[in-house]
Amino acid sequence: MKTDICIVGGGIVGLFSAYELCARGLQVCLIDRDDFGKQCTAAAGGILSPLLPWDYSQDVNDLCHQAKPLYEELGRRLATEAGINIEYQNSGLLVLADDHPDTHNTWCNDHHIICQPAVHSNTDIASGLYENALLLPAVSQLNPTRVVEGLCQLLLDAGVQLYRHTQVESLLQQQGQVTGLRCSHGDINAEAVLWTTGAWAPELTLLSKQVAAPPVRPVRGQAIAFDATGINLEHIVIHQGHYLIPRQDGTILAGSTLEEVGYNNDITPTAKDTLLQRSIAILPELKNRQILRQWSGLRPASTSGQPIIGALADISGLFVNTGHHRYGITMAGSSAARIADQLQLYLNSD
Ligand SMILES: Cc1cc2nc3c(=O)[nH]c(=O)nc-3n(C[C@H](O)[C@H](O)[C@H](O)COP(=O)(O)OP(=O)(O)OC[C@H]3O[C@@H](n4cnc5c(N)ncnc54)[C@H](O)[C@@H]3O)c2cc1C
Repeated sequence: MKTDICIVGGGIVGLFSAYELCARGLQVCLIDRDDFGKQCTAAAGGILSPLLPWDYSQDVNDLCHQAKPLYEELGRRLATEAGINIEYQNSGLLVLADDHPDTHNTWCNDHHIICQPAVHSNTDIASGLYENALLLPAVSQLNPTRVVEGLCQLLLDAGVQLYRHTQVESLLQQQGQVTGLRCSHGDINAEAVLWTTGAWAPELTLLSKQVAAPPVRPVRGQAIAFDATGINLEHIVIHQGHYLIPRQDGTILAGSTLEEVGYNNDITPTAKDTLLQRSIAILPELKNRQILRQWSGLRPASTSGQPIIGALADISGLFVNTGHHRYGITMAGSSAARIADQLQLYLNSD
C-alpha cells in the first residue's frame, strides 16, 4: 500500500491530524495498536479551555483559542452528515474563591477572554465559595468519545484507511529519509510518517535507533462521575484545581488527579476518596449521590510544558504531534493545522 502520510496513534491528536490533512487533499492512513480514542482521549472531561488560562504560556493559550470555532463547525457537520451529536455546549467556567481576581480579570481583558465577577446564583454551591469568584462565560465543553466516533466516520467516508489493532514494527528508510512503515499486516509506503502516540511517544526509539526519544512522559489522571439528576449546576466550576463538569445526560464529572506513576493506568480507592471529598466541598449535595464510574488516563506531558509539533531532526520525513498534557482535546484542531502546514511544505519541497 502507498500513501502520502502515515499517522501512528489514533487518539484525538492523530484523528484530528488525519482529518485536517485529508481536508487539504492529502492521502493519509491512520494506525493504532488499540482501537481509536480508547487511551487518554477516552478519559478526558471535554472542557475546551485551559482550566485557568492565566497559568499557561501564550503558545498554549493560542493553540487553545481555536478550539471553539473548530468544534462548533465540526459539531454542525457531524450533526447533519452523520447524525452524531458531540454534545457541544457553552457552559461557561466558574472559578470559585479565586486568589487574585483583579489580576486575573485584567489578564483576561488583555488576552481578549471574557471574564466577569460571578453573581451568586447557585445556592447548591458551598457558601463562601462565591467570594472573589470569576465567570468565564465563553468556555465550552463537549463529549470527546462522540468526537472520536464522528471523526472516524468522516475519515471513513473520505476513504482514509483506518488500521485498528495494528502493530508498527519498524520505520522503512532510505538514505536518511523515511519511506514508510513495516506493520503487523504488511508494509506501508509513505512520503512521511507522523507520530501521534501521546504518552507513548518515547517508544519511537524502538522503531529506529537513530531517533532520539521525544521528551514526553505519562501523567496519570483519574476522574469520577456522579449521578446528579436534579442537581442545579449550570457552569463548569473549578476550586483549588478541582473541577466539576455538568453533562447533558444528568451526570457530573469530577476531576482530576495529577500523578507521576509511569505507565500505570490503574484506578485507586485513594483517588476516588480524594475526588469525592473535593467534590463535596464544592457541591455538598454530591455526598448523597452515587458514583457511577471511575476511570483514568495517561496524559502526554512534555518537558517544556508545550506540545511538540514538527519535524524530527534525526530522519527526514519523520514528524511528531504530541505532548498536549491536560489540553489535548482543546488543542487537537489547531495542532493539526500547525503540523499540516509543515507536512505540506515538506511534501512540496520534494
Ligand atoms: C482525567 C483526564 C481529564 C482530561 N480532561 C481534558 C479536558 O477536559 N480537556 C482537554 O483538552 N484535555 C483533557 N485531558 C487531556 C487529554 O485527554 C489528552 O491531552 C489527549 O487525550 C491526548 O491525546 P493524544 O491523541 O495525544 O493521546 P491518546 O489519546 O493517549 O492517544 C494515543 C494513541 O496512540 C496509540 N499508540 C501508542 N503507542 C502506539 C504505537 N507504538 N503504535 C500504534 N499506536 C500507538 C494509543 O493506543 C492511543 O490510541 C484530560 C486527561 C485526563 C486523564
